[in-house]
Amino acid sequence: MDNKKLEKLILENGIPKYRLSQIQKAILIDAQESFLNISNLPLELRTILNKEIEILPFKIKTLLVSKDERAIKALLVLKDENLIETVLISPKPDVWSACISSQAGCALGCLFCATGKEGFKRDLTVDEITSQVLFWRQYIKNNLAPKNENLKFENIVYMGMGEPFLNWENVKESIIELTDPKLFNFRNRGIAVSTAGVVDKIEDFADTFPQANLAISLHFADNAKRSEFMKINKLHDLNKLKLALKNYLSKSNRRIFIEYILMDKVNDTKEDALKLAKFLKEINSAKLLHVNLIRYNSIGFGLNPSSPNTTQKFKDILKKEGVTVTIRKSLGADISGACGQLAGEK
Ligand code: SF4
Repeated sequence: MDNKKLEKLILENGIPKYRLSQIQKAILIDAQESFLNISNLPLELRTILNKEIEILPFKIKTLLVSKDERAIKALLVLKDENLIETVLISPKPDVWSACISSQAGCALGCLFCATGKEGFKRDLTVDEITSQVLFWRQYIKNNLAPKNENLKFENIVYMGMGEPFLNWENVKESIIELTDPKLFNFRNRGIAVSTAGVVDKIEDFADTFPQANLAISLHFADNAKRSEFMKINKLHDLNKLKLALKNYLSKSNRRIFIEYILMDKVNDTKEDALKLAKFLKEINSAKLLHVNLIRYNSIGFGLNPSSPNTTQKFKDILKKEGVTVTIRKSLGADISGACGQLAGEK
């Protein structure tokens, strides 16, 4: 829902301000799907809202649930027919997180990523970003909460389609709305933004949201290899990224999540692991850096996942070097909803 448009409508029609809070609570917190159902509003106001304000700025094209029922992917059609995807995942029982998109497509074209292959379409508006979360609140209310009263929906990760720091002004505004107690009311610590390494925005992120989480899609600790697979590295190489992460840590003292997708014979050798450990140690706060190893989800670019055995060996080398590391199970691979698989396919 476009909160700015709603505020303007309330102001211009001389409607008392307390009505604004009533509407925002009903739609954003209680996940009401129609203004006509907000019983504490006068019928005339409900009718105006119904005519003037859209609750979701997209249509749901498909909804897929993974076999283990721990990932649900929605394909959304925007008003200009562009497609985006968003995924609801349950990393542990009773806990759900939304992975949301910040752009339709992506300009960075990482060679292993389905979104990158599609190219860039456009930035998403604040409303299009926050409404993905609203859509999941509605879905949870209707489909999951009735079966589980302990369910918690507390985390939002900007790891869907697009590079969040290349749509920074809208992403920034969306985080402000998502964490505003009068609007979506998520905790700052429940928000994570993942970047492929747009270094000039990392400092601004630390200044603006010192409590939120930063994740780096690193995947390579060697400049030549990283530049081959991730063209962002040609602009912001590993030395610049290292410096930005040092500055981030000195400002925020928050743990950084390092995402590393393991691809067979591409970035999974002993040498790759040692280079990664060296890179992290040079940032100087290895204890504040947490590596998540994720086996690649094949999407047919001639790239394959590293074997479980190689993945374990890679982890062991990092551990021996003093790096904090976890092997993360990628959820939703069977519905193409896992890391790197979001392509906005019809
Ligand atoms: S991995 Fe992220 S930054 Fe790279 S192309 Fe995909 S969406 Fe864009």
